Amino acid sequence: MEMSESLQRAGIQTAVFHRGSLPANRWDPELSQMMLEELKANGVEFVPNAETAAIEEGKDFPLCAVTNQGKWEADLILFAVGVRPNVELARAMGLAIGPTGAIAVNPRQQTAKDNVYAAGDCCETFHRVSRRQVNIPLGDIANKQGRVAGRNIGGRPLDFPGIVGAQSFRLFNLEAAATGIDEKEAIAGNFSPVSTLVWGNALAGSMGQQRIGLKLIADKSSGKLLGAQAVGFSGAVSRINALSVALWSEMNIDEIGYLDLAYSPPYGGAWDIIHNAAQALRRAI
Ligand SMILES: Cc1cc2nc3c(=O)[nH]c(=O)nc-3n(C[C@H](O)[C@H](O)[C@H](O)COP(=O)(O)OP(=O)(O)OC[C@H]3O[C@@H](n4cnc5c(N)ncnc54)[C@H](O)[C@@H]3O)c2cc1C
Repeated sequence: MEMSESLQRAGIQTAVFHRGSLPANRWDPELSQMMLEELKANGVEFVPNAETAAIEEGKDFPLCAVTNQGKWEADLILFAVGVRPNVELARAMGLAIGPTGAIAVNPRQQTAKDNVYAAGDCCETFHRVSRRQVNIPLGDIANKQGRVAGRNIGGRPLDFPGIVGAQSFRLFNLEAAATGIDEKEAIAGNFSPVSTLVWGNALAGSMGQQRIGLKLIADKSSGKLLGAQAVGFSGAVSRINALSVALWSEMNIDEIGYLDLAYSPPYGGAWDIIHNAAQALRRAI
């Protein structure tokens, strides 16, 4: 998504081929629909349900992507097809590899072998919401784990406290952000997920309209927040950061529905979309 914006802004006509029907799998289809509209509004072609079988030499352009939706010729074809941890070296050393396919580490970033530490994309991380080991390749996690490993190697012990899965990106004029787990992951973690998606304004009404959508997922029996996703023209990342803190401290939706959030009209209403979504979810439960 970020590359499609960068290329298009550089004046390079860009098409995105996606195996699914909407961009950005992590987000609810209603939120992804907003991303699709933003791509189209900025001249990026989006080809859904596209499986690319081969890259061949083109006639008018150097390259040609052969897909089940037809052939597209291009100067440049960029693959963004997921990330797998590179654990060859670790495997060769006999280090334990976890069920995610990444290197197993303890909270001190220590591997199964004394004096061998791992940090970042190659290793597992404890997810504080699902209570499972996960492999989420993000730069902020890698930075913190690197420092934790360094502290332990240097003799000033420190535990890495885990993650809640916060993530964000910009797509032209849109902010997209998510945290925690979605319904599928919640079911796998033996929760009973209930969710709600509300649309609102990132500003107070008197300041104009900045459309924002916020989805919250909670556990039906405990009311605990499990995850959140937001897309909007402003304020989506700040909402998700607040909800990441709520996840970190295991808040339930009743607490979130009356959370003390900074209010001033340019940044939201007296009842923020976070309050409205939490209260809507309580009513749904
Ligand atoms: C285009 C792009 C955008 C991104 N944007 C974001 C973002 O906005 N936010 C975010 O949180 N994350 C982002 N990420 C992810 C982030 O970059 C990674 O999570 C982070 O760089 C991981 O750090 P790392 O040190 O674990 O691994 P890397 O940065 O991959 O570093 C590993 C290093 O080890 C070297 N290496 C591998 N094998 C060997 C060997 N056998 N011997 C010696 N050296 C070796 C590699 O060459 C490499 O230099 C982005 C990634 C990409 C590709």
